[in-house]
Amino acid sequence: MIIAVDLHTHTSVSHHVYSTLEENLAAARRKGMEGIAVTNHGPRLGDGAHPWHFSSLKNFKSYVGGVRLLRGAEVNILGEDGAIDLDDYALAPLEIVIASLHTPCFAPHQPPETVTRAWLNALDRNPKVNILGHLGDGRFKCDYAAVLQRVKETGRVVEINHHSFDVRPGSHENCREIALLCKELGIPVVLTTDAHFSDDIGEVANSRRLLDDIDFPDELVLNTSLRRLADYFGFEV
Ligand SMILES: [Zn+2]
Ligand SMILES: [Zn+2]
Repeated sequence: MIIAVDLHTHTSVSHHVYSTLEENLAAARRKGMEGIAVTNHGPRLGDGAHPWHFSSLKNFKSYVGGVRLLRGAEVNILGEDGAIDLDDYALAPLEIVIASLHTPCFAPHQPPETVTRAWLNALDRNPKVNILGHLGDGRFKCDYAAVLQRVKETGRVVEINHHSFDVRPGSHENCREIALLCKELGIPVVLTTDAHFSDDIGEVANSRRLLDDIDFPDELVLNTSLRRLADYFGFEV
């Protein structure tokens, strides 16, 4: 199953990623997709991109070969206070900002109250953040209901990350719990790949299956078209 717009993709600006931006765009084009967001890791991850990578995204046109290129980042939440690793200058041109917890930047297996406060503070102090990244990672258990309530109040969305099912412990059961809460609270989700190789761009079969299993409403899946996303996030098509 291929999603219309993949909002979480990486490029070989990081050494643990194996495709260039051009290769990712070519894959999206080949698969008939409408767009991708380029969302490389923030600079505090050992293999993250330099701040100039993000500020310079302003130089890109919105479309490359007919594919909408959304300027983005996957920033790191650095602590309980919700601080992130890009400043306002680097964030300024970005249209999609995913905030995530990664073990090198945030210690795993902390008390759930601590992790919950980190998410809530990150949402409160970083208005440019519009997607919560791999919230279901079992190494960062938290009060999902409290976090999702704040997501709803502030108009953010949650990703269901296809890559998580392979690499992040506990993701399947946690993502199911998160998706059930989103269904109950009416919170939109996006299906993303977190692709580190171009062939993976747009492929979200695992996440789609998880949503189908719980009869998740189609109208709450935002990235089934570029237009729906643009209307929700307020960027130009
Ligand atoms: Zn991540
Ligand atoms: Zn990622």
